[in-house]
Amino acid sequence: MDLAAVQTMRVARSRADLALAPGETYLAGGTWLYSERQPDVTGLVDLSGLGWDELELTSEGDLRIGSMTTIATLEAWGTSSPAPAAALFEQCAQSLLASFKVRTAASVGGNIAKGFAAGAMIALGATLDATAVVWKPDGTDLRVPVTALPTGNGTTCLGDGEVLRQVEIPAYALAARTAHRRIALAEHGRSGALLTGRRDEDGTSVLVITAATSVPVVLRYEGVPSVATVRADALAAPGYYTDPLGSADWRRSVSATLLAEVAQELA
Ligand SMILES: Cc1cc2nc3c(=O)[nH]c(=O)nc-3n(C[C@H](O)[C@H](O)[C@H](O)COP(=O)(O)OP(=O)(O)OC[C@H]3O[C@@H](n4cnc5c(N)ncnc54)[C@H](O)[C@@H]3O)c2cc1C
Repeated sequence: MDLAAVQTMRVARSRADLALAPGETYLAGGTWLYSERQPDVTGLVDLSGLGWDELELTSEGDLRIGSMTTIATLEAWGTSSPAPAAALFEQCAQSLLASFKVRTAASVGGNIAKGFAAGAMIALGATLDATAVVWKPDGTDLRVPVTALPTGNGTTCLGDGEVLRQVEIPAYALAARTAHRRIALAEHGRSGALLTGRRDEDGTSVLVITAATSVPVVLRYEGVPSVATVRADALAAPGYYTDPLGSADWRRSVSATLLAEVAQELA
């Protein structure tokens, strides 16, 4: 849709260009930005000129994902990578309501920065202990666990002028086995609950609830927990919410059932 209030558009090419004037906002893939009216946005700062679409495996085996990497590119990386956790990349990308056409434009950073409960790149990051590198307007950098960025369904702790530069996934998490379940009320609807998990080589496991709760719920265990433990922990988790895509009670109930399945698959 046309953004009728926008009067200026500039391409950022350096860190200095990221300083926002009143009314300006960052433009990544634009798939959310152009999907709604933005009456308060009078200027766009396009991040595509910064070269932040790198996808790099470091010598230590960590994966660095530039925030402008498209979700489709990350999905393709997952399909071709031998890393045990790589299956989760495709599963999370496919968990978005978005079609392939949207996934080739939508960026990983935009999905995380938007902070929707159904942000499957947040689920991926939360499950794989990813760290977000945030550039602050004063020239310093902040490292925050991806799981700590969302503060509600569609809100994050990113302040004015703070930019998500990249996401880093540690080697030990890429080496983990993973499992995934998703449910939506409509066949092609947005996720009502997204349940993901990983089991590390040392036996510890991490189980994550997103989409059903307004912010990610991350449960950590020394081994693989019993079905009864997972069900009890999922039922007791905070943040289940009601919207047209599902009631809080339904989200709580399906999360408990499907998270137990995730744990069983990891056992
Ligand atoms: C058909 C359709 C289906 C969708 N389905 C889903 C879904 O299932 N789940 C979901 O979560 N979303 C969904 N979306 C919303 C959106 O498309 C995605 O969240 C997408 O990943 C956003 O990425 P983008 O690069 O297009 O971001 P943009 O639209 O460019 O930006 C989104 C917001 O994030 C800010 N931003 C972008 N990049 C950065 C950065 N690096 N640092 C700081 N701020 C930044 C922008 O200023 C803007 O406020 C859908 C959209 C459409 C059109």
